[in-house]
Amino acid sequence: MTQTEVLEVLSPADGRIAGTVPVMEADAIAARAAELRAAQVAWHQLGADGRAPWFAAYRDWLLDHAGELTDLLQLETGKVRHEAAMEVGMAADLINYFSKIAGGALATEQRKPHSIMSAAKRLSVSYQPHQLVGVITPWNFPITGPFMDVTPALAAGCAVLVKPSEVTPLSLVAALEGWREIGAPDVFAAVTGAGGAGAALVDVVDYIQFTGSTATGRKIAVRAAERLIGCSLELGGKDPMIVLADADIERAVNAAAWGGLFNSGQVCVSVERVYVEAPVYADFVTRLAAKVADLRQGPGPLGSTDVGSMATASQVDIVERHVDEAVASGARVLTGGRRVPGGTAFEPTVLVDVDHTMSCMREETFGPTIPVMKVADAEEAVRLANDSAYGLSASVWSQDEARALDIAARLDAGAVNVNDVLANLFSFTLPHGGWKESGIGSRFGAEAAIRKYCRAKAITTPKVAPKNELMWYPYTKTRSTVVHRMLRALAGRGKRRIGKVG
Ligand code: NAD
Repeated sequence: MTQTEVLEVLSPADGRIAGTVPVMEADAIAARAAELRAAQVAWHQLGADGRAPWFAAYRDWLLDHAGELTDLLQLETGKVRHEAAMEVGMAADLINYFSKIAGGALATEQRKPHSIMSAAKRLSVSYQPHQLVGVITPWNFPITGPFMDVTPALAAGCAVLVKPSEVTPLSLVAALEGWREIGAPDVFAAVTGAGGAGAALVDVVDYIQFTGSTATGRKIAVRAAERLIGCSLELGGKDPMIVLADADIERAVNAAAWGGLFNSGQVCVSVERVYVEAPVYADFVTRLAAKVADLRQGPGPLGSTDVGSMATASQVDIVERHVDEAVASGARVLTGGRRVPGGTAFEPTVLVDVDHTMSCMREETFGPTIPVMKVADAEEAVRLANDSAYGLSASVWSQDEARALDIAARLDAGAVNVNDVLANLFSFTLPHGGWKESGIGSRFGAEAAIRKYCRAKAITTPKVAPKNELMWYPYTKTRSTVVHRMLRALAGRGKRRIGKVG
């Protein structure tokens, strides 16, 4: 392996070096890609049933090593233990689900002819995996994040090269040790480095799955277009929460706090802005501020704290800018509002008196802030919720479910949780994808998650095979008239079925 540099990974909690990974150059990445391509052929031939034991063995290895993996993940992210410890369990759940449905998803399907034109053919669709899939991921969920896409791609029969974020590569690289240790085929490996390594990966794969910022997503879409490979982009969000006057306010407050502050707000589908109908606004913000003020922040053993650090100092800068700009324009901080001295934490924050001129309501904050705006009615809430370049997910709160569903249908977002937050991300049978600048394509969605990493192949076979067919040569007047009359009779309606042909 060509290795010119080493990348130092810092622990956000105290700035110490948590570990290092090599910065892989393009030639090393291309060489690794060739090795994986070679191994993919046998991996594909194993079929879903043949691959299943490898997934089971790997799941067991991950669960057996959950403690060490969580330690490393916590060190490189600054997450509280509860949130760090969820990641391996989630990865195991993803492995179980996608390996279970792979056989059905990859089975050849027989299709009925759409009309008499193809009635004499047997029609089927088979699914053939891309040989090598690239998965590029951000730093907010170093293990669960990659596994959301790696698992269905491997289950489809692809080889996968994953490029974890340069901010948090250590726990994923450690998790990959398990794939080697159980002796699984060499179809799953990591590429380490920063943006350059990611760009080099895009150049050697057959399909690219990217999760990260909208700015990087655009670059990847351009390169994928130049190479004419498929891509799926899961990008940023500015998810709105709409609380109507008839909502269960206690549940809505608890959900706003968790949905806005889980993982220090570094979740693509976190609650980034809240619109509350005027009659319940005062009650909502009073209760939310009290709830958030009670949260315990900092490192500590399981159960001792609720909110951790942010992954990088530059992420804290963004949060601080959004809060400071809002306050300078007239917003009020009900609780929090400052960076925590030392490390990279920002206090859990509730902002009120905000409006749509402010960065905290327009740009992705990706931090532990909950800006809340009073709205006159549901119409104003829907208008403001849709007034965004993003469209990842949203939530609507009302005890009148029909009304909530009606509003859900009018929101420009890839997912809407009714009386819930983040639930779509934990539901692998639903598609997870962004509208507008939040992405192209989607992940998950039951069988679609696996077929996404395949090329569909259409097969036709004649039920009877005469020496010649009516549509083939020669185009005699009689044959042409029969064909054209048939087409017209099939496609036309009413008296047009029997009109003039040719
Ligand atoms: P980022 O775009 O800076 O980096 C993401 C990954 O892309 C990293 O691995 C990085 O090394 C790589 N990269 C950078 N430049 C590249 C290039 N030119 N070619 C190929 N790869 C390149 O994003 P980030 O700061 O790591 O993550 C935060 C962002 O991720 C937020 O915007 C967040 O909303 C988004 N996100 C989205 C989802 C989702 O499912 N929609 C989930 C999690 C995070």
